[in-house]
Amino acid sequence: MSKDYYETLGVSRSDSSEAIRKAYRQLAMRYHPDRNPGDNSAAEKFREINEAYEILRDNEKRKQYDTYGHVGDRSNFDFDLSNGFSSIFEGGLFEEMFGRDMGSMGSSRGRQHASRGEDLRYDMRLTLEECFKGVSRQLRMNAPSTCDSCRGTGAENGEQVVCPDCQGGGVLRTQRGFFSMQRTCSRCHGTGKINRRTCAECHGSGRTMKERILNVVVPAGVDDGNRIRLQGKGASGMNGGEAGDLYIFIHVQSDDNFKRKDDDLYHQTALSVNQAALGCELTLRGIDGRTLRLQIPSGTQPGQTFRLSGEGMPHLSSRNRRGDLIVKVQVTIPKNLSDEQKATLRRLFD
Ligand SMILES: [Zn+2]
Ligand SMILES: [Zn+2]
Repeated sequence: MSKDYYETLGVSRSDSSEAIRKAYRQLAMRYHPDRNPGDNSAAEKFREINEAYEILRDNEKRKQYDTYGHVGDRSNFDFDLSNGFSSIFEGGLFEEMFGRDMGSMGSSRGRQHASRGEDLRYDMRLTLEECFKGVSRQLRMNAPSTCDSCRGTGAENGEQVVCPDCQGGGVLRTQRGFFSMQRTCSRCHGTGKINRRTCAECHGSGRTMKERILNVVVPAGVDDGNRIRLQGKGASGMNGGEAGDLYIFIHVQSDDNFKRKDDDLYHQTALSVNQAALGCELTLRGIDGRTLRLQIPSGTQPGQTFRLSGEGMPHLSSRNRRGDLIVKVQVTIPKNLSDEQKATLRRLFD
């Protein structure tokens, strides 16, 4: 059973989205894995606040959560932290969390061991029609990128000198009685070298925030909650470490005409009593823009459904396969009949 999302973020049900956002930021900064290395309970807490915020930041999902106590399929919200998903990229949040801190992350002592860049997140909003066709989008985003001035070393002009603490050996030895203890030099992290001078551009972190432009192709059939992973498009690594990945989180706006469930689409339409009783031909616009014809047989009942095979969404892995369109009909019963109309109906049906 999931915890109360409001409780998780320490806010109340009546709080504004701005207050929720603020609370989230504070908690995200406090429990971020980078600030709590090796602390599993912080990582778990971080996962929980992300899960909570994922719901409460979205007005529609928040409403759903307030009403039902849960939102849709929970598997859509797995954050996959185990995969090193450690950073949130959304509307400058990333910069706020790391931009100013990047200097201290690298510090003048130099974080010189290779480390992988953080994974980044980008939220993409699509219409149902865009999901049907697939889209190609150009993204602009700021991301920690290898510093040009020091080529990522964090040292001014890339110049490094032998570590004075360990004389280049990378380890420190201490004698305790008969035992000789050995530990990794904390000043150079075992590399035996430190920066001669810290790079002024990146304050020794080896990275600076840079704007990137990325072209992303979103395949047809993509659904709300899907994530697209772009390998190596996350934050640049440090000291030769590999880049993180970029995760595109797909959010689909609700559509006026169609509701989606997997590859099938659902549409509701209203018939007059005559249309339902006598039968008729309906025309409607499919998701692909074509005009579809649907034969309504005489004697159709309210709530009856008709299936238009192959008129749903494309299957994500094979474009040629499509789901169905299910049309549910309602029957509009006339109100405010005149006496004459009432008399006619009685003659017909009594
Ligand atoms: Zn630099
Ligand atoms: Zn050293």
